[in-house]
Amino acid sequence: MRNKQLMGILLSCLMLSIPMAGCASDIETILGESWGVPGGLALACLRDDAYRELVIEIDHAPGYNPESSTVSLLKERLGQVCDKPDGIRIELNEMSFAETSTWTANKVREVAHETMDAPPQTSVLRWHVIMPEGTYSDDSVLGVAVDASTIALFSDSIDDATSIFNPRISAEDIENSVMVHEFGHLLGLVNLVYTSPADHEDSEHPGHSNNEDSVMYWAVETVTISAWFSGDLPTQFDQDDLNDLAGMKSGELATTDQLWRP
Ligand SMILES: [Zn+2]
Repeated sequence: MRNKQLMGILLSCLMLSIPMAGCASDIETILGESWGVPGGLALACLRDDAYRELVIEIDHAPGYNPESSTVSLLKERLGQVCDKPDGIRIELNEMSFAETSTWTANKVREVAHETMDAPPQTSVLRWHVIMPEGTYSDDSVLGVAVDASTIALFSDSIDDATSIFNPRISAEDIENSVMVHEFGHLLGLVNLVYTSPADHEDSEHPGHSNNEDSVMYWAVETVTISAWFSGDLPTQFDQDDLNDLAGMKSGELATTDQLWRP
């Protein structure tokens, strides 16, 4: 269901570790600008040593702006885990994207890198979300994290994910959860850039939680989301997620693929 998203993660790993596997110009762009893999800026967010402020740039197509509840929830959840004494700032921009129908991980990278207002690592840490028209090539995918700082949310698919089987769950609810979920991947959850001492990664869905009370539960970013929850959708990191983040931050848990280290 979410294999394409994992492929995005795997693909970026592959392209970094086996340069001959992809086309040369792509690799140069990725390596030259150090876009990294999802989780590659986890320590930069969790710790305050290098970046005391986090900016979230959300670029959306006309009419595709995030719900205000999504923006405030995202700020709250990141504020709970990232040490940012100078704050977390959200920047919203409306724009028309070069692609409006079918997206792939590479297309998300290409378009997002072109449209980002500033690089991820300057005096502040900058993470980037695009909310374009159209769907992912696998249209069951609601959101993807494609490198250390880049996320796409597919609002057309999120609208389609509402279901008569669970009318209590609205598109707004789904957007809330998917947004926090994708940022969880940028923070390295689950086991993307470390190995958890807790057994909470779903064996059939690598990179995801097996706990349906965690926002990192595997079904959160799929179009069948409504079918998996009888009550409310999770919007929180669970205790295992929080313990993993704390362990990474303190150094107790070894991390890989970091673009910044203390
Ligand atoms: Zn996911």
